[in-house]
Amino acid sequence: MEDLQGKMGEAELMGCFEDALQFGHIFAVYQPQINHSTGRMVGAEALMRWRHPIYGVQMPGDFIPVLEKNNLIYRADLHIFETVCKFQRKCLDQGISIIPISVNMSRYDIYNTNYVEEIEGLRKKYDIPVQYLRLEITESSAIGGREMITRVLRQLHDHGYTVEMDDFGSGYSSLNILKDLDVDVIKLDMAFLSGDIGGRGGTILSSIVQMTKWLNTPVIAEGVETMEQADYMKSTGCNYIQGYLYYRPLPEEEFLEKMVQLDHEPLTPAMNLVKTLDAGKFWDPNSMETLIFNNFVGGAAIFTYNIDTKQKKILRVNRKYVKELGMNMNEHDIIGHDTWNHFDAEEDQKYEDMLRRAIESGDEEMSETWRTVVSDCCGEDHICIRTYARIIGEAGNEYLVYAMVQNVTAEKKRDQQVAEDEIRFKAAFEQANIYAWEYTIATKEMRPCFRCMRDLGLPPLVRNYPEPAIEAGIFPPDYADMYRDWHKKLEEGVESLETIIPLTVGRVPFHVRYTLVKDENGHPLKALGSATLVVDGEA
Ligand code: C2E
Ligand code: CA
Ligand code: CA
Repeated sequence: MEDLQGKMGEAELMGCFEDALQFGHIFAVYQPQINHSTGRMVGAEALMRWRHPIYGVQMPGDFIPVLEKNNLIYRADLHIFETVCKFQRKCLDQGISIIPISVNMSRYDIYNTNYVEEIEGLRKKYDIPVQYLRLEITESSAIGGREMITRVLRQLHDHGYTVEMDDFGSGYSSLNILKDLDVDVIKLDMAFLSGDIGGRGGTILSSIVQMTKWLNTPVIAEGVETMEQADYMKSTGCNYIQGYLYYRPLPEEEFLEKMVQLDHEPLTPAMNLVKTLDAGKFWDPNSMETLIFNNFVGGAAIFTYNIDTKQKKILRVNRKYVKELGMNMNEHDIIGHDTWNHFDAEEDQKYEDMLRRAIESGDEEMSETWRTVVSDCCGEDHICIRTYARIIGEAGNEYLVYAMVQNVTAEKKRDQQVAEDEIRFKAAFEQANIYAWEYTIATKEMRPCFRCMRDLGLPPLVRNYPEPAIEAGIFPPDYADMYRDWHKKLEEGVESLETIIPLTVGRVPFHVRYTLVKDENGHPLKALGSATLVVDGEA
């Protein structure tokens, strides 16, 4: 029904405008908005059409500029608003469950100081609950008249209307506008986001989707024509779709049928932040939350994690994060930079496991991972980062992760050193055929070395030394009294003792030595004992 029989010129349009309003030649078609995950309807947009008795249906792209130029657009827009009110009233009267319908506002309507009062009058006349009427304003309305649009927004909000930012992403100033204007829903037009869907890196699309998540505002993707586009949007947490993929703009009767057929559901934000977080403050660079993030929490980062693709994207880091990672970069460089590229082999799996645990537990989880970072000043550096991760938001298969990081390289290297020393120590003993032990004078306790325990079957702690060693026959009976006497001498402060003793029943000659260790007051504390196998010629 939308086939063009002929485009009308400005003079022809102007000549029949009054008639068109009066006889319903200007009317609305309705395009449903669908939740791609559930298939339910979340709303619809009313789009203006002008059917001329001779020329046929005219499209808004052709006649709206003419109406705007002639200062008549507000009348056409009010007419559409009233048409929608009538439709909703008719449905309500028939007991049909209705759905919010969005009506477009030209930027010229914003300059018309009475506009909000006029629509409010119509809404009251038809007695439509305000949540069933939404208004779409475009980004370009804000250009050149920020005060004007702010005033209209406030008026609309005062009356309880939901306001949508239409064609978001079409202008380069988008991000600033979102920060300044308090809109309730964002409409992203796929046409402005063409190109590499799913491509990595800083595509406009992903940065805009990220931006909208930060604001905790519902997002509707418009002009969605393919399943690929819809699935991509869904993967980023944006489930709401308006486009030819589901429905073209429908004539009223057909729309009514769909509205009755399909289940309805309300719009909700793309990213569900945990309840304790206030999204507005959380992302506001001047808020107390941000101050805390930057100054008090240690190294911290916020990133998104896609559980299916495993892709991670840094949204925010603080200054200490950069410092902990020892990277020669500023915060800005790190955003968009994949710091997980630096993982050593198999370390990334540890990190993934931590994230999965954090998703499952809803709690803080920890991992330690080694990475190799390269910086201009210091060359290559091998570092160990301890990460505490917690999920703070969720959108589809994407999670928002808050991570605290600590550089624990020095700690880890020390641990490693100790472990290595221990191994070396043991090896040296093995090779030298030495048995060693420590005797604590006050308690008469003996702590044997690993070899003593293994070869002589001693426990890690021997009490009332040297009696158990004599009883076990390690020290033979003919040397027992001498050996007991040594321990008395140590107690009296004799600094060192040594002799050759034939040990065990095999009477294998060992060079047995004691060296006294004193405390800071010069009192005998303990003695370090050793027994070395006597090699040929030493005896
Ligand atoms: P808009 O507000 O961005 O409306 C969406 C446009 O995208 C509509 O074009 C719709 O038919 C079209 N569309 C929907 N799904 C798809 C899709 O999958 N692929 C493509 N390529 N297009 C899709 P339409 O109806 O021609 O309206 C064009 C523009 O005219 C609107 O853009 C809006 O700026 C303006 N307009 C329409 N109705 C009104 C109105 O009542 N008042 C005012 N002031 N402007 C209106
Ligand atoms: Ca629109
Ligand atoms: Ca749009």
